[in-house]
Amino acid sequence: MHRWQREISIALSLIAAALVLAYFIGHLSTLLLFITIFLYIRQSLAISELEKWLSRGAFGDMRHKKGIWADIYYHLWKLKKTEKKRKKKLSRMVEQFRTSTDALPDAAVVMGSYAEIEWSNRACRTVLGLKKSDKGQRVPNLIRNPAFVQYLKSNDYSQKITIPSPVNENQILQISITPYGEGLRLLLAQDVTTLKNIERMRTDFVANVSHELRTPLTVLKGYLETLVEIDGGETFYSKSFQNMAEQTERMTVLIDDLLLLSRLETKHRHTECVDAPHLIEQLCQDSRLPIKDIGRIELSLDSDARLLGDETELHSAFSNLVSNALKYSSTDKPIKVRWQNDAEVGVFLEVEDFGEGISSSEIPKITERFYRADVKRNQKISGTGLGLAIVKHVMARHEGKLEVHSQLGKGSRFRCWFPNNRVC
Ligand code: ADP
Repeated sequence: MHRWQREISIALSLIAAALVLAYFIGHLSTLLLFITIFLYIRQSLAISELEKWLSRGAFGDMRHKKGIWADIYYHLWKLKKTEKKRKKKLSRMVEQFRTSTDALPDAAVVMGSYAEIEWSNRACRTVLGLKKSDKGQRVPNLIRNPAFVQYLKSNDYSQKITIPSPVNENQILQISITPYGEGLRLLLAQDVTTLKNIERMRTDFVANVSHELRTPLTVLKGYLETLVEIDGGETFYSKSFQNMAEQTERMTVLIDDLLLLSRLETKHRHTECVDAPHLIEQLCQDSRLPIKDIGRIELSLDSDARLLGDETELHSAFSNLVSNALKYSSTDKPIKVRWQNDAEVGVFLEVEDFGEGISSSEIPKITERFYRADVKRNQKISGTGLGLAIVKHVMARHEGKLEVHSQLGKGSRFRCWFPNNRVC
């Protein structure tokens, strides 16, 4: 029998008893009223007992209850048991999470919408110098490095930044921020001192080797030039001298590019207001370019915007693009060089050629060091594979970006974009 059927059968039995009694003594409605009041009081007492039981935290065995109330007590007791189990599981998980995050060597901070600390792991104490009591404090008030504060404010976390640790100047930290949930941000700080030291050793090594090779090369070049002059192109050795002169020239260009690249990696930028239109005009008429090539360049200076930056670096980047356009297109095709501004995005230098172009699969690789697209095609064209790597570095140092559009057989268009805050 269902529990609720028991309740109904009690009510029905009482009504039946009332009917029998009324048959003898009358007063049916009074008897029914009594029954109703009795049932009402009975249920009220049961409810009050349940309320008391709940207010005691649902403690105590109530399995002795009968009827529908037994079911209610049982379900509530089961719910409480499941809840207790869930709580236990959850706190075990939280404990596991806390132990594992505390074991992490990287600092992790969860920040709220106002960059206040909501949670931080143990490594934060040693890596970032944060204390347990800093909870609720705003991170920029505790880590005051200007580059970090700017990064935090920017809301653009696509790149990571490196800063010296607030605890130890010699320790280098790589910081990344990941937004998640509603206004929350996870800050991760990783100690990359060893990595940076290795990187610096590599840069120093390349710079030192290039520097040391430059002097003997200059001597060789000088002697070879003299030998070529004395030889006058008339002896058995003429071709070899010519070849040697070409190869030493190639090596000199390579070493110059390597030195420039390592300077770009290590040197502090010298910033001034550069007359970009004048600089572009000058490099398009560079006397070192063959007259025929100068004639191919169609220059349009549609903006007189000047640029905040390093003139030497900008000159290297722009001239690499122009000389590439000249190198990788046939001598009867024009090269279009434009200096323009776009009110919304910024100013840009565009170098367009109608040469052989680059396949779409190679475009992402051409800015890598020593990468030369389509080696077979380029065998006859001299190059180091460092030109576009230099352009990429220079652009990064000027908060700019390089945009490449190219189609095989049709030509290429390189754009160097600079943000409006670089216009001076
Ligand atoms: P390189 O010294 O070989 O010119 P770069 O770094 O300047 O080195 O260029 C890398 C590669 O990108 C080149 O080898 C070439 O294949 C390709 N490239 C660069 N500019 C152009 C261009 N304007 N047209 C076609 N290919 C180009």
